[in-house]
Amino acid sequence: MLLNLVQGAALLLSLCWLQAVNAHLWGKRRLTTQLVSGLLFGGTCVIGMLTAITVQPGIIYDARTVVLSMAGLFGGPLVGAIAVVLAGACRLWLGGVGAAGGVVEIVLTMLLGLGYRSLYLRGKASIRPFSLWLFGLLVQCLGVFLLLLMPREQLPFLLAEMALPMLLVMPIATVLLGSMLEYIEQRKRADQALQVSEARTRAITGAIPDLLLVLDQDGRYLEVVYPRDNPVYALCPRQVGQSLFDVLPLAEAGRLQAFIRQTLTSGTPQKVEYTMPGPHGPLLLEGRSQRLDGLYDGKRAVVFLVRDITERKNAERELRIAATAFESQQGMIITDPDSRILRVNKAFTAITGYSPEDVLGRKTQMLSSGRQSPEFYRDMWRSLIETDKWQGEIWNRRKNGEIFPEWLSISGVRNAQGQLINYVASLTDSTERKAAEDRIKQLAFYDALTALPNRRLLLDRLQHAVVTSARSGRFAALMFLDLDNFKNINDLYGHQAGDKLLCLAAERLGNAVRAGDTVARLGGDEFVVMLEGLDSQASEAASQAEQVAEKVLAALSAPYLVGTVELRSSTSVGVVLFNDDACSSEELMMRADLSMYEAKAAGKCAVRFFDPAMQEAVSTRLRLEEEIGSGLQAGEFIGYLQPQVDQVHGLLGAEVLVRWQHPRRGLLGPVSFIEVAERAGLIEQLDFQMLRGACQQLAAWRQQPAMSRLSLAVNISARLLYQVDFVERLLQLLQETGADPGRLKLELTESLLLDDLPGASARMLALKRHGIRFSIDDFGTGYSSMAYLQQLPLDQLKIDQSFVRKLPEDDSNLAIIRAICALANSLDLEVIAEGVETDAQRMTLQGLGCNHYQGYLFGRPLPLAEFERLALAAEVPAEML
Ligand code: C2E
Ligand code: CA
Ligand code: CA
Repeated sequence: MLLNLVQGAALLLSLCWLQAVNAHLWGKRRLTTQLVSGLLFGGTCVIGMLTAITVQPGIIYDARTVVLSMAGLFGGPLVGAIAVVLAGACRLWLGGVGAAGGVVEIVLTMLLGLGYRSLYLRGKASIRPFSLWLFGLLVQCLGVFLLLLMPREQLPFLLAEMALPMLLVMPIATVLLGSMLEYIEQRKRADQALQVSEARTRAITGAIPDLLLVLDQDGRYLEVVYPRDNPVYALCPRQVGQSLFDVLPLAEAGRLQAFIRQTLTSGTPQKVEYTMPGPHGPLLLEGRSQRLDGLYDGKRAVVFLVRDITERKNAERELRIAATAFESQQGMIITDPDSRILRVNKAFTAITGYSPEDVLGRKTQMLSSGRQSPEFYRDMWRSLIETDKWQGEIWNRRKNGEIFPEWLSISGVRNAQGQLINYVASLTDSTERKAAEDRIKQLAFYDALTALPNRRLLLDRLQHAVVTSARSGRFAALMFLDLDNFKNINDLYGHQAGDKLLCLAAERLGNAVRAGDTVARLGGDEFVVMLEGLDSQASEAASQAEQVAEKVLAALSAPYLVGTVELRSSTSVGVVLFNDDACSSEELMMRADLSMYEAKAAGKCAVRFFDPAMQEAVSTRLRLEEEIGSGLQAGEFIGYLQPQVDQVHGLLGAEVLVRWQHPRRGLLGPVSFIEVAERAGLIEQLDFQMLRGACQQLAAWRQQPAMSRLSLAVNISARLLYQVDFVERLLQLLQETGADPGRLKLELTESLLLDDLPGASARMLALKRHGIRFSIDDFGTGYSSMAYLQQLPLDQLKIDQSFVRKLPEDDSNLAIIRAICALANSLDLEVIAEGVETDAQRMTLQGLGCNHYQGYLFGRPLPLAEFERLALAAEVPAEML
């Protein structure tokens, strides 16, 4: 019996061992494993039955119930079925009375095993020793029950012999076999899990782009897994066993070593960034580490994943730059290819008033103003489709409804495959720029005061008109207008009043002509009207132009209400007609100007048409200008001296009056060239030459006792006075020549001074400080005002000869001279009368309080030598007075 038990135990043990080998060998082939497993279970039963104890003939007692129930439980239906077939076949072959019962027992125990299995798989039973024992007991109870089916006569014996061992031993055998099989199962499952886990780890390490290192606590490489196709990692150690210090720069290696220690102590994943020299500059690497549980080759170790983040960092930086650039001063919009807005920046919000929430997801059309035509957008899209670019000015609408001009540039963004993925648009509000442009245009082409076209624009239009009229054969007219005596209004009522009057005049001019005609202001009080599309017959065209001119004259001569004052101004108009391009626009301007002067000469408030005689005058003038220029170079201008005397001292000095020693025409008086010199801008030069002569003369007289007390009066034009460096030049001249400034008197013509009264006054004061004196010439003819006289640092008033001429008879002149004398007296100014030709005149003047004289009575303008002779004779004063 004991031998049987040992035999059984050995059989079960060998079954277990074979099952383990089977699982190991065929583990991956499920069917094979099952077939072999079934054969092993079945074979065990067969061996068991063959070596079993024969209780009675035909009745054997063995452990097959245990084996088959376990075959059902651990092997499942297929394994169970194979075992059942083998065991059943063997039992039948052994035969005997128990054969039928034995086969039934074989099938039922296996089925019970399957039942247990199904309960276990559904989680309703466990495979623990006690459960196994209970199950074994159940199986044996079934065996005992089957014994009851044996022939009655054998029953008592069978029960006595078999029931007890069955119920006592077999459940324990079940526990043993079940536990061992369960252990094998567990091992099998663990193996499988390990394999899966290993495979997974292999897959993961293959899939990650990182370099995988296992480093020990001393920074030695225990394992290195290189990702493929990443040349950067060629720099990392290839040889296990090297240390960080063999591979990295010292500082970085030290840092990483510390990092590994930290990872070992912390137990949580750690992260570090470090650099390494790379083939194209330093590489920025990111390391992530995790402590390995347990020991690796007897050492504490970490898993260390290294990733090259150089590119990513660069990209991040680029992104940051892009993000900063995106938030620029310009408004930015990013859309998808369907122009749906994806992103806008702050400047966009500032410009349009739309917040991102207002626009995101909406189409850019929402911004359109409706000002652009469909063709405009068609062109824009064509350009975008063909070139991925468009830029230009476009009118859009702000959130508040305001329409504004913006400069917009759009670029298409394509991906690596060349597909359009975005549009990026940048916009700048050009409202201000446009306004500035308009303003510049306004300044460049329009007169600031009246807003009328200026000379430039006029010339432009004139050129155009010349071409048009030549083509159509219809006449056009260019009219120059000059407000007569406007200067006086300016002088008397101030520049503001003058400006106001000019504006009113401009308005009236605009009303007097047709809409298509041009009214321009050339500056000062000069206006131009250009009429186009007149008749193609000269006479008819002339009369049309004359009608307009008369209308203009009438309009401009109506009184102007400026403030509370009613002002009047007449106008002179010069007209030139043209219907071909024989004359340039400059020429036409000159002709109209000339005609206007003619009109003025004809007594103001008149219209004059250009005629060829005028042209001749122009040519003469131009010739004269040239001659004056060369005469100045050649020193042809000389000063004649006309004596100035007073009651007490006799000869005081002289006025220097210019004469031109013309090479062909002989001696010329100023009337024939002063005005031309003025218009040609040569007057300053001429005056300065006279000044130089006078100073030299004064210096020379200084040495002659008889002459040294004489002073000289020099006529200077306001233009010379206004020259920036006039004061310095004159003072320098005085110094150079050594003339006594106290002997120099400057004669200024009042009407010319008024343009810049404070400026004139400042310069005069500067010169006065050096002793130079000032006289106002032709006093009484202009519009001298008290303010004017008070503001200027004057010494002398010179009564114009026109008042003197009609003395002593003319009462009104008498009154004027008396008033002038009283005025001068009150201002403590000296008075001198010019043009004194008769003694009667002198007497009258003396009676009126004027004691200084100049005129033919005392001497004509004389060449220097003659004047000196006269002075030396010194007969004049004594005899005449
Ligand atoms: P003005 O300054 O009023 O000069 C006086 C003018 O009256 C001079 O004419 C003189 O010859 C003339 N005159 C003097 N006494 C008598 C007289 O008793 N009877 C008559 N009928 N005439 C007399 P002139 O020399 O022909 O000069 C004319 C004007 O030319 C001057 O008028 C002055 O405005 C200007 N002028 C002369 N020389 C210069 C100069 O060097 N520079 C500038 N800017 N202007 C000058
Ligand atoms: Ca004078
Ligand atoms: Ca004069």
